[in-house]
Amino acid sequence: MEEYFNVADIFGENVFNDSVMQERLPKKTYQKLKQTILAGEELDLETADVIAHEMKEWAIEKGATHYTHWFQPLTGITAEKHDSFISAPLPSGKVLMSFSGKELIKGEPDASSFPSGGLRATFEARGYTAWDPTSPAFVRQDAAGATLCIPTAFCSYTGEALDQKTPLLRSMEVLSEQALRLLRLFGNTTSKRVTPSVGAEQEYFLIDREMYLARKDLMYTGRTLFGAMPPKGQEMDDHYFGAIPERIEAYMRDVNIELWKLGVSSKTQHNEVAPAQHELAPIYAQCNVAVDHNQIIMETLRKVANRHGLQCLLHEKPFNGVNGSGKHDNWSLVTDDGINLFEPGKSPHENIQFLLILCLVLKAVDRHADLLRESAADVGNDQRLGGNEAPPVIISVYLGEQLQDVLTQLISTGTATKSKKGEKLETGVRALPDFRKDATDRNRTSPFAFTGNKFEFRMVGSQDSVGEPNVVLNTIMAEALCEACDELEKAKDFDGAVHDMIKKLATDHQRIVFNGNGYGDEWIEEAKRRGLPSINSFVDAIPALTTDATVSMFEKFKVFSKVELESRAEIEYEQYIKSINIEARTMIDMASKQIIPAVISYATELGLSIGTITDACPEADVSTQKELLIKVSNYLKETKEALVNLREINDKAYTMKASSCEKANYYHDEVVKAMDALRAPVDALEMIVDKESWPMPSYGDMIFEVTNY
Ligand code: ADP
Ligand code: MG
Repeated sequence: MEEYFNVADIFGENVFNDSVMQERLPKKTYQKLKQTILAGEELDLETADVIAHEMKEWAIEKGATHYTHWFQPLTGITAEKHDSFISAPLPSGKVLMSFSGKELIKGEPDASSFPSGGLRATFEARGYTAWDPTSPAFVRQDAAGATLCIPTAFCSYTGEALDQKTPLLRSMEVLSEQALRLLRLFGNTTSKRVTPSVGAEQEYFLIDREMYLARKDLMYTGRTLFGAMPPKGQEMDDHYFGAIPERIEAYMRDVNIELWKLGVSSKTQHNEVAPAQHELAPIYAQCNVAVDHNQIIMETLRKVANRHGLQCLLHEKPFNGVNGSGKHDNWSLVTDDGINLFEPGKSPHENIQFLLILCLVLKAVDRHADLLRESAADVGNDQRLGGNEAPPVIISVYLGEQLQDVLTQLISTGTATKSKKGEKLETGVRALPDFRKDATDRNRTSPFAFTGNKFEFRMVGSQDSVGEPNVVLNTIMAEALCEACDELEKAKDFDGAVHDMIKKLATDHQRIVFNGNGYGDEWIEEAKRRGLPSINSFVDAIPALTTDATVSMFEKFKVFSKVELESRAEIEYEQYIKSINIEARTMIDMASKQIIPAVISYATELGLSIGTITDACPEADVSTQKELLIKVSNYLKETKEALVNLREINDKAYTMKASSCEKANYYHDEVVKAMDALRAPVDALEMIVDKESWPMPSYGDMIFEVTNY
């Protein structure tokens, strides 16, 4: 890549996007494909053949040798199997490059090696990937050469969803259907589709790769399982928005170039609160595209880091004691003709359609708070949520001053007559331009905040897919819209019925609104009084997947069947069990093979030093060394006991004959406790043992070294 380039020239150059299709496909084929994309019409094989051929020709021009169906099984990451384009050798000994319509639209990976939560026995291994034409294919260039990646959905032989994408697409359809019903009632005759727009802001850490490789915990689990805080943490607030070090800038530049070529509109980058923590935000896109793009972003962040001698950590909490990482899921509903349903306009109190939709969001979130909480739960997020830096574990909605005021008027009188306006910002400096402030300040402590014309769901974990949270948001909203339409379509006096409905919704669901400090202890008490669920952990969140309210909603809208939900719950329990088991084993490994031997060497050195000094000079005071030796020996003993205990408890958990739910709870209650008990003396030892003898890089080395370039 030459030094200077125009982003507009490279943007999307590796994407089989609309302009490429228009240019390369015969007109009739292009129109048929557009019908499929816009109206969901089925694609015939003949058309698919033509598209596949052109796609292949285009990809080969980009250097592609292989194609892959790129999908998102329930592992949280993406999966792919590469096939080259070559056909069977011809009699001449030559090969042709071929790619058929059938190969484009359908793939058949062995489903038995992906999580299915008991949906499918291993002897019934068939699974299918199906092309999602609404998310464009792209050519990825990397060490493997160039590969044509075809975004696909992944289902079992019997049609159950085994991935993130299938339910997402289903949820988008039902949401559109229900939202259109409401728009029609308000007189809109032109919009044809309502699509969720999603912008997912991605936080991540970068550390030196050499150091990463010297930490088994980071390698096996993505987070540090031991580690004492250095003298400096994030208390100076000097990292957030700080000047970006050159080494990191060079990395971000490469990440952006890769992303732009793939049509991912990487827009914003900055240093985050914790040292070595950063953020990348793309411009929002249609929900399923945004979910795909977020996966591409995570892959690219990881891959490019290696080229720069860096390691990208996407775990929710790589380091205790400094902020963890999340993913803010910005979500709004937009019609195909550009109307944002969450746009309040200048005087929200007069915008009846907006007020109704807003109240329906409150209803949806209030009724399914447990499910929404679950959608953001993963193993890593347990380390983050509820700490004084991430959103609290209690779901609430932040509306801000202006909308809160409108809501209060609605509840008290049934009608809102005025909206608070943003005032002029006065800086006291004449040379600075005056501008109008937003009508509402921000609140960073809310898990679900209204931010002008969208909601920002801030609970999602940094390494989790945004697929599930958006499936839940789309479906709970579809349900609320559907119930409203059922009633309003029957109403004789529409205006009166809407008026009454808004008042009732606002009153019934005001408990979910909270504009105060979500980090305060008072909020926990207050939320309890309001009867809002407070779900503290991943394992406690999982049951929300299979409650009656969840099952009947998802079945009604055909987003998930009961069986699919049960299988997802099963997969999540298994994920928890496996992850904690790996963490516990990693701690056992590090403590017994690295830490205890290092501490013994250090203690021996101390002992020898005491002997040597006393021999050489009996009157010398060796009390410092002795005190240190006693302290080290005591912590060593504590470490050894905690290690033995962890090994026993983890073995017991591992061999336990119980349901995965019971087992996961045992891991959560007992194994995690035993892990904490081992960490404590080891971290204390790290603070007193000679730095040279400590067998791995410290927090200080890892999170400050990289920021000082
Ligand atoms: P904020 O600072 O208010 O969070 P940003 O402009 O930084 O807003 O946007 C954060 C993310 O939200 C970006 O990915 C952005 O594209 C996305 N976003 C902005 N407007 C919308 C919208 N109407 N719907 C969905 N996402 C949006
Ligand atoms: Mg934001």
